[in-house]
Amino acid sequence: MRSLAAPCFFLFVTFARAGELPIFDAHLHYSHDAWEVVPVEEVISILRKAGVKRALVSSSGDEGQQRLYRAAPELIVPSLRPYRRRGEIGTWFRDESVIGHLEEHLKKNRYAAIGEYHITGEDVDLPVPRRMIELARQYGLFLHSHSDADAIERQFRQWPQARILWAHSGFDRPEVVAEKLRKHRNLWCDLAFRTDHASGGKVDPAWRKVFLEFPDRFMVGTDSFTPERWHYVPEHAAWSREWLADLPREARESIAWKNGERLFGSLPRRSD
Ligand SMILES: [Zn+2]
Repeated sequence: MRSLAAPCFFLFVTFARAGELPIFDAHLHYSHDAWEVVPVEEVISILRKAGVKRALVSSSGDEGQQRLYRAAPELIVPSLRPYRRRGEIGTWFRDESVIGHLEEHLKKNRYAAIGEYHITGEDVDLPVPRRMIELARQYGLFLHSHSDADAIERQFRQWPQARILWAHSGFDRPEVVAEKLRKHRNLWCDLAFRTDHASGGKVDPAWRKVFLEFPDRFMVGTDSFTPERWHYVPEHAAWSREWLADLPREARESIAWKNGERLFGSLPRRSD
């Protein structure tokens, strides 16, 4: 079967790439426990076969996306997480040692963003997140924030010029997302790990209104929060192309890749 299937697959890939819509995947992780399951070369090959033009990638411990970035700098945009290992999602914002981790890596490497980090409500005003946001300001970095609308508001209060990528659009309703986008012109949203905005190749009417009002503010993303989800990247890209085809060309291209490319296509210069 394998020898028969391989050439067919090759033909499919060649055909699919000819006119396919490029994808900027704005939400990927490649943490330490993913390296064995999906080695670097396989990750790069998965992204290329999926027609992903570029991807914003972070990892607990930071080494994961550095390995990917070294292997394919034209494909990977590194983002720095405040996590060193799994299990810090609910504790990092009270853990002062996180700051040393961030400072050390910011001095050593180049990033486009800090994140993705998980925070809700007033926890973002604690000293550790505050310092993290100061570091993002100092280094001119985006914040990739998995949070509720309240924590987004609080971050803009701390730093009115912040540029925030709201992970999963906060898992909030389209009306709330639209309201926040109207209020904050430096807020962008990823659609990772949500499916309510489209089904069967049709965009949900409430979401369509928001996409057409703010075509420059959305991005798609797979969210490989477990290593196995790397194998889902091509399917996610194909599913995204399917529902994006239901939007006018300009909005479709912006959300698929142009927004990500415009915002993250080149890394900021080091401030030191
Ligand atoms: Zn994530």
